[in-house]
Amino acid sequence: MALDSIPDQSEVETFKHAVLTRLRYAVGKDPADAYDHDWFEAVALAARKYQVDGWEETTRTIDRSQRKRVYYLSLEFLIGRLLIDNLSNLGLLEVARQALSELGVDLERIRLLEPDAALGNGGLGRLAACFMESMATLDIPAHGYGIRYEHGLFKQTVADGWQQEHTETWLDFGNPWEFERPECSYTIGFGGSVLSEDDGSGGQRLCWEPLERVRAVAYDMPIVGWRNASVNTLRLWRARAEETLRLDRFNAGDYLGAVADTVRAESISRVLYPADSTEAGQELRLRQEYFFVCASLQDLMQRHLGHGEEVHSLPRQAAIQLNDTHPAIAVAELMRLLVDERGLEWDEAWGLTVATLSYTNHTLLPEALESWPVGLMERLLPRHMQIIYLINAFHIDALRAKDIHDFDLLRAVSLIEEGHGRRVRMGNLAFLGCHSVNGVSALHTELMRETVFRELHRLYPNRISNKTNGVTFRRWLFQANPELTALLVDTLGEEVLDDPENRLRDFAAHAEKSSVRQRFAQQRRNAKERLAQLIEENLAIRVDPDALFDVHIKRIHEYKRQLLNLLHTVALYQDIRNDPATHRVPRVKIFAGKAAPSYQQAKLIIKLANDISRMVNGDPTVRGLLKVVFIPNYNVSLAESIIPAADLSEQISTAGLEASGTSNMKFALNGALTIGTLDGANVEMCERIGPDNMFIFGLKAQQVEARKRAGELSMQHEIAASPRLEEALIALGTGVFSPDDPQRYVALVDSLRYDDRFMVCTDFDAYWDAQERVEQLWQKPARWWKASMLNTSRVGWFSSDRTIREYAEEIWKVPPGEE
Ligand SMILES: *Cc1c(COP(=O)(O)O)cnc(C)c1O
Repeated sequence: MALDSIPDQSEVETFKHAVLTRLRYAVGKDPADAYDHDWFEAVALAARKYQVDGWEETTRTIDRSQRKRVYYLSLEFLIGRLLIDNLSNLGLLEVARQALSELGVDLERIRLLEPDAALGNGGLGRLAACFMESMATLDIPAHGYGIRYEHGLFKQTVADGWQQEHTETWLDFGNPWEFERPECSYTIGFGGSVLSEDDGSGGQRLCWEPLERVRAVAYDMPIVGWRNASVNTLRLWRARAEETLRLDRFNAGDYLGAVADTVRAESISRVLYPADSTEAGQELRLRQEYFFVCASLQDLMQRHLGHGEEVHSLPRQAAIQLNDTHPAIAVAELMRLLVDERGLEWDEAWGLTVATLSYTNHTLLPEALESWPVGLMERLLPRHMQIIYLINAFHIDALRAKDIHDFDLLRAVSLIEEGHGRRVRMGNLAFLGCHSVNGVSALHTELMRETVFRELHRLYPNRISNKTNGVTFRRWLFQANPELTALLVDTLGEEVLDDPENRLRDFAAHAEKSSVRQRFAQQRRNAKERLAQLIEENLAIRVDPDALFDVHIKRIHEYKRQLLNLLHTVALYQDIRNDPATHRVPRVKIFAGKAAPSYQQAKLIIKLANDISRMVNGDPTVRGLLKVVFIPNYNVSLAESIIPAADLSEQISTAGLEASGTSNMKFALNGALTIGTLDGANVEMCERIGPDNMFIFGLKAQQVEARKRAGELSMQHEIAASPRLEEALIALGTGVFSPDDPQRYVALVDSLRYDDRFMVCTDFDAYWDAQERVEQLWQKPARWWKASMLNTSRVGWFSSDRTIREYAEEIWKVPPGEE
């Protein structure tokens, strides 16, 4: 295929040899008795050799040039599979395919054996993964820091329509991409007390004496940029006990007690929290956050000082980006390192801290703003709590010195929330301790200035900036959709692979050519056929690849409004049953997504999707005009299969609540048309793609806000004015879709009628109309495909390369590399 067309035979031989030696000496198998998984491992290890060569070179070059480094701290990295990603960026994809085929092995088959590295919940973690790839591609010296969770995001199955969670086990067969670094480990303290000691020059110094100590051990994954630009490091920490076995207890016959400390220590990196944008108010979560921040800061400080630099040059040599507030304790930890351990004066340390750190905000949902009870902080991190009080005191004093005494303002900008129980506000801590605070789309940044950080923004008007999210086109176009990529290369030339941001624009001219349009439609048809096959294999449901594929895949959350789509599904179903002759567009509604295990309403929405699916798919009167499927276990690999097969992309969050969204960009890049609200990055997508090539509907953010302020949450008016909506609600409420339990959706329907926080009913008619426009355009294929091609052509700006260039220039002050 197009990516690196004709493999050089000598390269093929070299690769073949690399695979065979690894199969024999690393996996310990002979080709004759190797299983597919053995082959996968041998190929991954062979690819790793090429990575490591580039890795060493990158490290040497950066060390020599003393370039400033970026440290990206994130509690989540939602990576997915890496085999094709790595081969493709190394330029070895066709070489490997050919080499394996000569060995009688099918690359397509063995690539499926790799488990997804699912060390993240959704958009936030996936963004971190896209950023790592873009930073390597742009030759920016970057290190990612996170946690090597033994168990990633839970595996979802559906039993009788209900979500079931199962432990994810990605490390069962080892991870061929990682290097354990036992020699690189740090001690992390918890609890204990703060002592005052002599600083040797007549003064006093405070010193934290932790009670409990845990080790953080480094595991490195090389991250290769496109065309091998540079190879950066993702360093993930694993928690180990200081002493793995208490021999005294063991010898006394207390076998469980002998390992109790180990279990407690190692639980820190045991499992990823499955909470998505809701507060995980658990002590373990705070331990995870401090654990990885403390290890990462020690590590980067050691690197900094090891290069002969002194501590004052830290901001010149290092930029630390905090992905959301999860690593916000870094503000207090860096202060502790500088003041307590390096003996700097407070003001000087504060200057260095603020100049080094920057923070990205990801959500405005009040329930998702992290805060920790003061009591918990005092018990777990006593010195940090003192430092936070000091930061707060200096901060409030400085305001008073500027003659600011407004009580409400001082209360709003305080680091401590006084209310039912005092809590530390991590968002405010991050805001104060960082020189830069950014939102992830223009609308979200604007709302940040007006809501969560309204008062802080008034005090620091230059601190907030916008960096609209992007996605890496290597994964979301080249790998996910090789057939479309081949078409783009044939029409635009190889250059489109290196500069899609600019070159894709030229694809618009081809939207007028029926031959290209046909090929464009054909690649979509092929992707839909493959997805139809996947659906049949997994769910035993047959869908017609010629139907319109209407796709809604993302975490299940009320604000993302899967319910609005399900109500439309019910209304459409009833319409078809009443009058099948007026319907001409066969549709497949495709849903996928996980619900946080404790989020009951989201789990009920999954059940509803499955109830509707069973009823609709089993009804012969619908005659194939409507099918509904819920595909279990949404993850990166599933997204890569579904997105190229989508005709319509559902991005219908309540306006003002989706910070950016990134699946909206992946879909548009692959040519799906968006039906969506003016929310998150949809707004900027619409500016670039044009409103004629999207289906925009519904309340705008300001209108949502106005209605909330007016207290208009009872929807009786709207429902009375919309017979279609009323009928759908009655059907749900009376158990039409849940004959086994007619009461199942009564409370859900009541909440829509009387307290519709997410404005589902208000937006219903507008959504219905937008869906009608979808069907009208679908019936004019030439126009549909032109609009679809214009989507692909016009979303180049949403590349994470562009986003990273903005961070590098405006926040990190790190110039991209030479290339
Ligand atoms: C892109 C992506 C997301 C983010 O999706 P949104 O629709 O933007 O919320 C979540 N999960 C996976 C697996 C993704 O690939």
